[in-house]
Amino acid sequence: MIIDKNSDKLNKILNRGELFDEKYLSVVMDILKDVRINGDKAVKSYTKKFDNHDLNESYVIGVDELKSSFDKLESGLKDSLIKAEKSIRFYHEKQMEKTWLINGNNGIVLGQKISPVENVGIYVPGGKAVYPSSVLMNSVPANVAGVENIVMSTPAAYGKVQESVLAAAYLGGVKKVYKIGGAQAVAAMAYGTETVEKVDKIVGPGNIFVALAKKLVFGFVDIDMIAGPSEITIIADESANPQFIAADMLSQAEHDEMASSVLITYSKKLAESVNAELKKQLEELPRKDIAEASLKDFGAIVLVENLEEAAEVSDRIAPEHLELCVANPYELMFKVRNAGAIFLGHYTPEAVGDYIAGPNHTLPTGGSARFFSPLGAYDFLKRSSIVNFTKDALRECAEDVMGIANSEELTAHAKSVKIRI
Ligand code: NAD
Repeated sequence: MIIDKNSDKLNKILNRGELFDEKYLSVVMDILKDVRINGDKAVKSYTKKFDNHDLNESYVIGVDELKSSFDKLESGLKDSLIKAEKSIRFYHEKQMEKTWLINGNNGIVLGQKISPVENVGIYVPGGKAVYPSSVLMNSVPANVAGVENIVMSTPAAYGKVQESVLAAAYLGGVKKVYKIGGAQAVAAMAYGTETVEKVDKIVGPGNIFVALAKKLVFGFVDIDMIAGPSEITIIADESANPQFIAADMLSQAEHDEMASSVLITYSKKLAESVNAELKKQLEELPRKDIAEASLKDFGAIVLVENLEEAAEVSDRIAPEHLELCVANPYELMFKVRNAGAIFLGHYTPEAVGDYIAGPNHTLPTGGSARFFSPLGAYDFLKRSSIVNFTKDALRECAEDVMGIANSEELTAHAKSVKIRI
């Protein structure tokens, strides 16, 4: 588990995003094609195969049923979800963009008009765990942005979707839930079927099949980003508590065999303590098998010379979650560039960001934090440019427009100006 920065294991972790192009690609392409051609029939057969249930009319859940799930939810969890919804809303309201107009010379008006996307499909994972938190993290920003029609798709192993997921959907303003998972859910929302309505944008995390399907339908619909198997990188110095660090690494490892958990430190003593603590805490985990497999393939404790080098290695990993468990986290924060979300200090476990802090937990994975940002209200907004010229303004630029148009041999363009002046 303890390695140096040149080891093959670190290379494997650095290349984790490439898994997308290997053995899963043909499986997902086949599913997409089948759903595009055969619609509901294909969706039904994959649901039977992967989630073990027969889709019948009741696989579309409407608002009344969502409300009744919300009403029935036990009060402790209901209160926590209500609190989470509030803080997610508060944070995402800060991200809203406004329409603007400016005045130029000769009465010209220029601007940018902001409109929400009309139809959004949220994918909420549900294969290995239940994620009411993901429902809120995806639906609330869409709601804040003013999206009119939010639908959701989630797998229902043996036909059952957890009450908490449906209750969260009600809280987030979702209009309809489809009990479909995996690549077939993404395909159904992208292409539409007899039952599933086609959307304009698909957002939300999922396993490798979901992430790849989103990548492949991009262009046909918009997507948020590639949010695949979860990841954490922790940079720690000797001020860190090894028990906390091991717990945080396992909190990601338990998600998925392909999840990745990395500690980077210059302290050999801390590295050894965390290694021992990981073994100990692993034994107590109900999801031990998943966490163990994840640590074996995508887990590491990387020894470096100092915090500068730790920041460099972390930037190469470009993790979804980065914890800075060091004495001066604010100083280190400015040395790192690539991370989906950054958690500062010893009392900010990544789990607070998963649920209640307010920022989004749908975050770029697989190294894509080099260029993607967290899901936000801005993901559900479109911009339209606004241009208004007067006759005087048109006359002033006419020679330039006609000159460029004629050089492109687009004479009708030139004429559309000439005819006005
Ligand atoms: P999931 O809903 O993403 O996937 C389940 C679906 O996968 C099933 O319905 C099935 O259709 C499909 N599937 C399973 N085996 C298949 C096979 N062999 N061939 C084709 N399709 C198959 O749920 P999950 O599996 O629990 O994965 C959730 C993922 O989401 C985890 O990797 C977790 O780490 C990640 N996650 C990420 C974030 C984030 O913000 N990045 C947040 C929450 C969860």
